[in-house]
Amino acid sequence: MLKDLVNLRKELHQHPELSGREEQTAKRIAEELSRYEPDEIFEEIGGTGVIAKFSSNNGSATKAILFRAELDAIAVQEESGTEYQSEDEGVMHGCGHDGHMAILIGLAHVLKNKMTPDLDVYLLFQPAEETGEGAARVMADERFQRIELDHAYALHNLPGFDEKSVLIKSDVFAAASVGMKVHFKGKSSHAAYPEQGVNPSKHIAEFIRLADVKLDHFRSKNSLNKAVNTYIRMGEPAFGISPGSAELGFTLRSPSDEELANAVNAIREIGGEIDNDFQGDLKMQKVEPFAATINSEKGIETMKKAAMESGLEITELKQPFPWSEDFGEFRKKCPITLFGLGAGRDSAALHSETYDFNDQLIETGVQLFRAILEHHSS
Ligand SMILES: [Zn+2]
Ligand SMILES: [Zn+2]
Repeated sequence: MLKDLVNLRKELHQHPELSGREEQTAKRIAEELSRYEPDEIFEEIGGTGVIAKFSSNNGSATKAILFRAELDAIAVQEESGTEYQSEDEGVMHGCGHDGHMAILIGLAHVLKNKMTPDLDVYLLFQPAEETGEGAARVMADERFQRIELDHAYALHNLPGFDEKSVLIKSDVFAAASVGMKVHFKGKSSHAAYPEQGVNPSKHIAEFIRLADVKLDHFRSKNSLNKAVNTYIRMGEPAFGISPGSAELGFTLRSPSDEELANAVNAIREIGGEIDNDFQGDLKMQKVEPFAATINSEKGIETMKKAAMESGLEITELKQPFPWSEDFGEFRKKCPITLFGLGAGRDSAALHSETYDFNDQLIETGVQLFRAILEHHSS
């Protein structure tokens, strides 16, 4: 079975698809799942998502849990040099979601043998994790809303940590984050007649200065609170035009959803102030919002037992990760637990050109999920 899973992982790796466009991957996953005879397969959940339901062996479940993997890849040109390197230019499985999918398929194999009395198990292959949209879309799907869950679990492989070590963190595991787009619409003109146009450049400079001042309090409150001006777009490298429109991007991060909301308000206030003075039109838009991923205490206890029974080293993290995960969204439905699985100290970083999922983790992942299952069904 393990060999099949590794082959499947490499096949998925070769055909990565970007967030929200995972049609072929979803099709392949649904086909693979059907081999393990789930009681039901739901397709096109929240877009391209797939869910397999394995009912309890006596058909009278009182509890239900869910395990999640992600379908999407990222927009990076792969340079891993493996023989199963991405066949699609500029797209690669640079986050290891190919490996997470293989692990969940391994769990489907375990579930085929109906080892879960009194427990329904759902395997979710979620679209668009990387943009933070997928979990919310799944949550909005009526078929998903009809499913009642007691707990949801997911893992993420993490380069830079000992191979196969289980990384757990109580409370906040990964920060909340949001992007803010600030769009200036002025009027372009000949650079010889700037007075005939509305050039936003000095308002942009003022926006950035104010953001730096007003978000200082937010940043100093917690070292994990971050506010970054991620891009500025205005004009062309030409000298005859005074440009009329521009766009600014900010990314805000915090382990606290509330502090993040305050930072968003600060940006909005700056926008209001600048708009009063700007002769054109200023619009702001919130994009790619990720809720903080907050783990359940009970789930962490279960994880510790599952890791111990599997003979794996446990590392309790002191600080949450500053990056974000849209798995946090599912906390609106049921308690959640997200944990990390060390991918090895030498593994290339996530989202880097040379990254490749460590296949040694497939067996470990299946084993851990299986141990979690056993805890919930006993
Ligand atoms: Zn990623
Ligand atoms: Zn990821």
